[in-house]
Amino acid sequence: MEGMQSAAQVTSFLVTGRALFLLIHILGVACFSYIVAKRLVPLIRGERDLRFDRPLVRLGRVLKFWLGQWKQPRYRAAGTLHIFIFAGFLVLAIRAFSVLIVGVSENFVMPGLSGKVGDIYGIITDYAATIVFLCMVIAVIRRLVFKPARYAVPAKYGKSHTADAIFLLALIALLMLADSLFAAAKAAAEAPQGQPVEALAVLSLPWMLRNALASNPLPVLARFYFGAYLVHELSFYFLLCYRPFGIQFHVETSLFNIYFAKLDREILKPVRWGVSEEHLDQVKSFGVKTFEDFTWKHMLDFYSCADCGRCSDNCPANAVGRPLSPRFITIKARDYSFWHYPVFGRKSKGTALVGSIYSQDEIWSCTTCGACEEECPLLVEYIDKIVDLRRGMVDGGNVPQSLQKPLKALESRGNPYGKLEKKRADWANAKEFQQARSVKILDHRNGLETLYFVDSITSYDDRMQAIGRATVKILNHVGENFGILGVAERDSGHEVRRFGEETLFMALRDHNVEAIKASGVQRIVTSDPHAYNALKHDYKNVPPVEHISQVIAREVQAGKIKFNPVKNANNVYTYHDPCYLGRHNQIYDDPRDVLDAIPGLKRIEMGRARDRSFCCGGGGLMLFYEPKEDQRMGVKRVQMAADAGANVIVTACPFCMVNIEDAIKVAGMEEKMTAIDLAELVDQQIAREYPDVIEEQAAESKECVPASSNSLK
Ligand code: SF4
Ligand code: SF4
Repeated sequence: MEGMQSAAQVTSFLVTGRALFLLIHILGVACFSYIVAKRLVPLIRGERDLRFDRPLVRLGRVLKFWLGQWKQPRYRAAGTLHIFIFAGFLVLAIRAFSVLIVGVSENFVMPGLSGKVGDIYGIITDYAATIVFLCMVIAVIRRLVFKPARYAVPAKYGKSHTADAIFLLALIALLMLADSLFAAAKAAAEAPQGQPVEALAVLSLPWMLRNALASNPLPVLARFYFGAYLVHELSFYFLLCYRPFGIQFHVETSLFNIYFAKLDREILKPVRWGVSEEHLDQVKSFGVKTFEDFTWKHMLDFYSCADCGRCSDNCPANAVGRPLSPRFITIKARDYSFWHYPVFGRKSKGTALVGSIYSQDEIWSCTTCGACEEECPLLVEYIDKIVDLRRGMVDGGNVPQSLQKPLKALESRGNPYGKLEKKRADWANAKEFQQARSVKILDHRNGLETLYFVDSITSYDDRMQAIGRATVKILNHVGENFGILGVAERDSGHEVRRFGEETLFMALRDHNVEAIKASGVQRIVTSDPHAYNALKHDYKNVPPVEHISQVIAREVQAGKIKFNPVKNANNVYTYHDPCYLGRHNQIYDDPRDVLDAIPGLKRIEMGRARDRSFCCGGGGLMLFYEPKEDQRMGVKRVQMAADAGANVIVTACPFCMVNIEDAIKVAGMEEKMTAIDLAELVDQQIAREYPDVIEEQAAESKECVPASSNSLK
């Protein structure tokens, strides 16, 4: 630039700008590389995690979740703000790089960005810098004035993060301001020097600053130009090196975190990656006990959390005051990692995580509902970590007292209630039911095609047995050629596995797999989403499985099931999505389609439905363990249904039924609210005047094949 020296040419205190900026570049890059190298140390020491498969699928997810910011709009205001900031950063990345080089090579122009293209890019970057600057201002106002509750840090989790967040937002705003001032001062100096005036984007920050500076003499503009450049350089490198010390590290790690995110979310992590089940006896320690027992990817999760609080905002355990907030599972682990693997100094001695940064109750409080993972924009994983921490506790003998008995019963009797195995099929022998229905016990000789897998709660719980009977009646009605395993069935082990008892789970699973294979069936149906999830994802080499809601929806569609109109037209129904049917298996529409097919049934949605459904309180072993809480999850869910205007809650899971029916009583809402399982409702509403050959045959036989006659006994 004639008349006004470029930043590289300016000399002060005998040091040229070129030398100064070269030094800043070298120091900045060296510091950043050193810090990142130190941050990688725990990842190198972490456990294996096989995340290098299916690169194209992973790239697709990067495009969707990272570049496309797919989950951000789930929180409209904050999400929109983030999309603008992210897009602004992407646009400005090339500009930032070329601005850095200009400090040592004043005539540098990024290849491809000269001439008209460069002019257009310049206009876009002017707006991008302005938008990012404004977003920072808005974000600061949100933090300081509106204070969204999800950003708050409860006293038990330490100090507020507001000051750090504001500092970072201010730093980014400063960077944008410096960049804009640099461009503005340069443009303002062009006219007095007789050079062609560079077009700046109208109403952008550089445009406004240029107009404000225009009347200044050249020497003043030169000082603004050099000063802005220096501030830009310093704030850029300061930000780069400061980010790995806190939440802003996600700027660097998020792309990798999303690329390596779990592809099969529904499949639980193995005890040790790379160790087959046959060799598990050689594993000295199960689960996570120390920080280094986490896998490298789970450590990367800790670095990648943006502290947005969305996970905890949706966590039912957090909502009812249990001592669990997923956000702080991550934040505490990250702080632990920073503390024990410091950037300056040596690694300090590690401690057991449970008992130091985590409490036992905190880890047992999780219902594995998956709401946190569904919400996280950075695909941070929780269920695997929590199950791994539980595996560590179980391995160390730290099992809550109330759970010891059901676990022993599962081991000895195959059900958590300690009931006799031979009573497993008694539900099918109920008197009135037996008069009209025959439930066959499977045997490879009887050639039945379908297994109805009942699971423990429906087999043994007096109330839930009604779901089993309704399921049988529906299967009969649609002509399904089915039977049950009877005494040969064991608990699916779904909850046992999520509780951290992997070996017990394997024993239950192996027993069931053998029994299923011996029965010779081609397909499995279950009315229990937990059993469905186990059979579908935890078991291998078993026939395809369907939940009863899928069967009903299909048969309604095919015209095999027709419904009578609801008797009480004043009832308002709402459907509660069971976590293991909805979030974990994306079966949202089938149950709703079935309800909508019943004439006269009024259905409304609760505020939290489908993938944002609120867990009723945890199935399986959670029925035997009650962590400290201010309110029952079920009660909160029932209130949500009442708030939506419903007086009948329909669900499709026996565990949900236990929790919701219990909650209705606890909340004293027996007069206003009832709960019913989808299978029960369908059985109640089926128009049975249509020909029903199988039912007639069943009625003729009037016999329930006794469990004792089962060859699989
Ligand atoms: S899985 Fe559910 S209960 Fe567990 S931390 Fe996540 S949201 Fe909370
Ligand atoms: S884990 Fe995800 S949702 Fe939770 S605070 Fe971190 S970034 Fe936000």
